[in-house]
Amino acid sequence: METLSHCPICNSTDFDQFLTCTDYTVSHKEFSIDQCRSCGFRFTNPRPSANELGSYYKAEEYISHSDSKKGLVNRLYHLVRRYTLIKKLQLIVRLAGVKLSASKQKQLLDIGCGTGAFLDICKRAGFTCKGIEPDGDAREHSIKTYDLDVKDEPELDNLPKASFEIITLWHVLEHVPLLNDRILQIKQLMNQSGRVIVAVPNCSSFDAKHYNKYWAAYDLPRHLYHFTPKDIISIFEKNEMKVEQILPMRFDSFYVSMLSEKYKTGRTNYLKALIIGLISNVSAIKTGREFSSQIYVIKKN
Ligand SMILES: [Zn+2]
Repeated sequence: METLSHCPICNSTDFDQFLTCTDYTVSHKEFSIDQCRSCGFRFTNPRPSANELGSYYKAEEYISHSDSKKGLVNRLYHLVRRYTLIKKLQLIVRLAGVKLSASKQKQLLDIGCGTGAFLDICKRAGFTCKGIEPDGDAREHSIKTYDLDVKDEPELDNLPKASFEIITLWHVLEHVPLLNDRILQIKQLMNQSGRVIVAVPNCSSFDAKHYNKYWAAYDLPRHLYHFTPKDIISIFEKNEMKVEQILPMRFDSFYVSMLSEKYKTGRTNYLKALIIGLISNVSAIKTGREFSSQIYVIKKN
């Protein structure tokens, strides 16, 4: 384990303990979230060191990296994932300013591409795609199944600077140990007109507050940071980048509520999860920036 002594956003050394949560999927151990007294940022502290992190991703239930279709939750997850894949593609097509049939090649980098489904749909839409995935099994799957150009994390250092039009991190930034270094690296890799797309859970959403220590998107200790919209704006501002747009991920409130309900009560309750997910989305519509998970479109200053 390693302990952070400075806030990754404002560098303050003054923290309060915010919450203690159980890892429900892998280790079943307890972990803590600290909150910075100065800027309010919440992060897992202490956290597994870089060489320990891998062991916390080894669980059959941790479906983000697998294509298992067993069980109703997983089936629903895969159904929604297909829909969201198309929505994600529509977003990057709009941002890159190309039509699906356009011949002009745009460079896209997906960091933490998992089993490669998103990159595959982008490649078929005409983007020139590269992927980065630290998990060997997921990487192999993406190469074998979709014939994609996917490399391990160290490859990020070898990629050409200022070459990518679109860089995507779908639920990845909360897993990255060296947060500021990675943001700076992304900034160097994108071209001047490029956009970074970051999707992360929002710990100031209704479902986060409702489920509190049972909120599945805390996902300790795999999630090292617990962002609010303000935190995302701050950390990119600090690295001379600007959040241009915040977009909702409307299905996440239902999926997260389903898991949270199970962690809280020990049983699956689809109706309750549906209600909480719905309340979360409806209350988020008022502010437009408090959905369970959100997409941030970011550009260089
Ligand atoms: Zn701080």
